[in-house]
Amino acid sequence: MVENNGDGSELMEFYASEALTCPRRIYFRLKGYPERWPDFVRVRLNQGINTHNVLGEILKRRFGFELEKHLVLRSNKLGFEIHGRIDAVRDFPIEIKGKTSLPRVPYDYHLAQLNVYMRWAEAEYGYLYYIRLHEEPMKVINKIDFSNFPVVRGPNFKAFEVPYDKTLFKDTLRHFYKVKRAYERNKPPEGWRSFSCKFCPYRYLCYPGDE
Ligand code: SF4
Repeated sequence: MVENNGDGSELMEFYASEALTCPRRIYFRLKGYPERWPDFVRVRLNQGINTHNVLGEILKRRFGFELEKHLVLRSNKLGFEIHGRIDAVRDFPIEIKGKTSLPRVPYDYHLAQLNVYMRWAEAEYGYLYYIRLHEEPMKVINKIDFSNFPVVRGPNFKAFEVPYDKTLFKDTLRHFYKVKRAYERNKPPEGWRSFSCKFCPYRYLCYPGDE
């Protein structure tokens, strides 16, 4: 969570998946509050893991991608590290998102996450794949047309080609730095209080008595 930097100073660990997400949620994770996942989110998480595994295997066998690659970007100046696990990476990263409904455009925080991976991989482009969650992911994956890879198409599937964005990376660093400052002051930052609270494991802290 918070690691010693070897010179006595502490390096905080953020996750790429937290890029531009609710700062209060990141704060609670750093402070070690227990997570309490709603049951319906657990079901989705499991479906998401299955989907990642099946699609990941295809990317590995057919296209030579490395799966679940761990990365660390460190800034001694800012006093933190960003850790990540890239779903699939070769000369560019691919991030797979299982969703119950597919977005028209990518979510900002998914773009920010992918952007961290592009920064690490020194890639000019990355790809976001949104795939509809299904109990049997092969039923969706079997219908995907890979002939124009990496821009693949299919029903219940959307691929976005995304260029690396230097400004977005700076914004991401700034976002993490603000959470770090809040952590040091022991003062939880304001939360998003949005639809995303429904899926948040710290909902019990922001909405006590509302479970
Ligand atoms: S419940 Fe909402 S506001 Fe509170 S930490 Fe979670 S996402 Fe943020």
